Parts: sequence; C-alpha cells; structure tokens
Amino acid sequence: MSMDGLNVTACERCPELCESRSRIVNGVGPDDTALVFVGEAPGANEDEEGEPFVGRSGTVLDDALRDAGLSRADVRITNCVRCRPPENRDPTTEELSNCRGYLETELDRLDPELVVTLGKVPSEHLLGRSVAVTSEAGDVYDARIGDRSYRLLVSVHPAATLYDRSQAETFVDTVARAAELSGAGESGEGQSRLGEF
Ligand code: SF4
Repeated sequence: MSMDGLNVTACERCPELCESRSRIVNGVGPDDTALVFVGEAPGANEDEEGEPFVGRSGTVLDDALRDAGLSRADVRITNCVRCRPPENRDPTTEELSNCRGYLETELDRLDPELVVTLGKVPSEHLLGRSVAVTSEAGDVYDARIGDRSYRLLVSVHPAATLYDRSQAETFVDTVARAAELSGAGESGEGQSRLGEF
C-alpha cells in the first residue's frame, strides 16, 4: 500500500478508474476527530476539486453539520473508493475491495467514536449485508471493519434530500444524532454558535 499518513499517494489497482479519474480524492478533515463520514466515491465535482462531498451534496452536508453545531473542519469525510467511476456509475465489488484496505487503515489511524455511512453503497460495504437505507437511517450497529469494531450509524445520502424533500428531515436528524453519539464538537463551539441566535 502506498499511503502517506491518511492519504493514498499513488495507486493503479482499478484500471477503469485510473482512466476516468483526474486525481485520487483522499479524505479531508482532522486526524483526531471523533466522527467520520464515509461516502461512496468521488463524483465530477469531487474529482475536479480533489475533496469529497463538494457541490450540492456537500452543501446539504455542511448545512446539516451546522444545524448540529458542527462544521466541516470538525469531522473527517472520506469515501469507499477514492477514484471517480466513469459516468458516475456505482463502484464494482472488485473496486470496493481494491480500495478497502486504505479505508480500513484510515479508520484504524483515526480511531473515531462513530462512523456514519452516507447512502446505500457505503452502508452495505461496511455492514456486509443489504441495507434498506431509508428505513434504517438513524440506526446504530457494531461493524467489524478490518481488525476492529466500530459503532456505525446508517444515513441516507445527502443527495437523496435534493430529489425527495421528505428525506431532508431524516438526514438532518441523523447528522444531529451523529454529533450527539460521537461527542464531536463538545468543545463548546457549537453552544457558542447557538448562542448567537
Ligand atoms: S479506487 Fe482506490 S484502489 Fe482503486 S485505483 Fe483508486 S485508490 Fe486505488
């Protein structure tokens, strides 16, 4: 594995993704956070900017974090695969498997209190079973990831709120639950921000 800290610096394990990516999109955020969000794969905006969850999905996530008294700088955001699939297709089982070791290493080094899976692909990948994301959103499980167990909270994908407004409340509630369960942002920053209103 070619990793520098939490970052993959070079990798050509997935031939199709090497063709479609402009860069490897590593996770962002502090290396000592209690809360990690895991998405599926970079999309066009993420591939261009080199950061997970930018564009409209990123705005939905940022807004929900703010409502929970957190900011993007308080949490780690990463993906199951780090290279953009062509035409935004789902990553294949083989690609997920190819990239799994990087995610396991990242989580092991971060040692978070809580892992939140954003959408069906990361939820199924990390729980190792099929997941009905809409009905399981907000549920917490113990997940074996690599050599360790983590508390895992299932969430709908932020983009789901753009197509189905009924998902917006579910998403905001899940992120608020994530903040509470992980204890992220308990430095009092969230409180002082709430005090501004
Ligand atoms: S998706 Fe992961 S395993 Fe595949 S080429 Fe990119 S970094 Fe390597």
